[in-house]
Amino acid sequence: MKKIYFDNAATTPLHPEVIEEMVDCMKNNYGNPSSTHVFGREAKSKIELARKKIASGLNVAANEIIFTSCGTESNNLIIRSCVEYLSVTRIITSDLEHKCVKETTSEMGRLGKVELLKVKTCERGEIDYDDLEQKLKSSDKKTLVTLMHANNEIGNLLDLKRVQQMCEETGALFHTDTVQTMGHYPLDLKELKVDFASCSAHKLHGPKGIGFAYIKKSTGFHPQITGGGQERGLRSGTENVYGVAGMAKAFEMAIRDMDEHKSHIEELKRYAIEKLKANIPGVEFNGFSDDFDKSLYTVLSICLPFSDNLIGFEMELQGIAVSQGSACSSGAAQVSPVLESVLEEGKSSVCSPMRISFSIYNTKEEVDVLIDALKNISKKHLAVS
Ligand code: PLP
Repeated sequence: MKKIYFDNAATTPLHPEVIEEMVDCMKNNYGNPSSTHVFGREAKSKIELARKKIASGLNVAANEIIFTSCGTESNNLIIRSCVEYLSVTRIITSDLEHKCVKETTSEMGRLGKVELLKVKTCERGEIDYDDLEQKLKSSDKKTLVTLMHANNEIGNLLDLKRVQQMCEETGALFHTDTVQTMGHYPLDLKELKVDFASCSAHKLHGPKGIGFAYIKKSTGFHPQITGGGQERGLRSGTENVYGVAGMAKAFEMAIRDMDEHKSHIEELKRYAIEKLKANIPGVEFNGFSDDFDKSLYTVLSICLPFSDNLIGFEMELQGIAVSQGSACSSGAAQVSPVLESVLEEGKSSVCSPMRISFSIYNTKEEVDVLIDALKNISKKHLAVS
């Protein structure tokens, strides 16, 4: 059976050119970038070239890009440093953030290091911008706003410009988790004037174990990981040279081919929506998943009109990988807090949430197979009820 992969918001397959770049780097750039001999200098120059490439794709200075191991580390570095070194005593965030932001900000709140405020969300999981403005204006405390650019579960997009303006007017710092949008949307960070952003290479056909944090140069961070002083003293540890080279390659290609990728994936998403509406009566779209202006084009979050805790497993039996949108704990399926917050009350017990996430490697034929599988599962459920 052909295996079909529709879980690209979890991770993406490596692009063949990224693999080539990494293998070449493994063979030829094995020096330690901190060594002063030619092997070290060559590895160092690989890293600095990669930094320049990435920085130029975001229209920022190379020294504002700090390589890390992943999106989680980038977000941790930014949030923790803001509290520890930039005197932030108040954080405004939302209930829709990825766990690495949610857990980190919660810890800061629990330890009494910051006052933690959650911005309200409206119907369909949209940030309540008026509530954010009110919260920003309600205190003189040094504040960090951390809100994700795109939600990884339902795909809702944040109006970055609007939030940045509010932050600028009130003197707050603005961090946005851009893990799901880097390489998928044009992000001119200089023009957007955000203070901090994050990236994870494995979400854009790059390798796992490498990411970066964008840290605006005016800020005075200190390292979370101390040691040899790599990454301009902000993140010690011998650099992941192959990872950096692979990420830069993936990033470069993502920026170069962005329009083509976007139109291919949008076409797939549009096709999937049409097919779902035509073939699965009662299917619903979560958040703004079916609104192309307000949602990540790579993510389609749906609710099937029946409850099936094993839906992910059943799809897998048919060779299709999707994300179930709920996790099994103690034998009962628990819908994620993000989905719970956008579903009508009681809905989660009578429907099956599912996230279908696309990449450039998916095809319409694969969408047809997905729809057939869903049709068969739906029929079975409707016949039983
Ligand atoms: N932020 C968002 C929005 C994500 O989707 C993810 C990963 O799924 C992360 C952060 C964490 O990234 P990483 O897997 O690189 O730690």
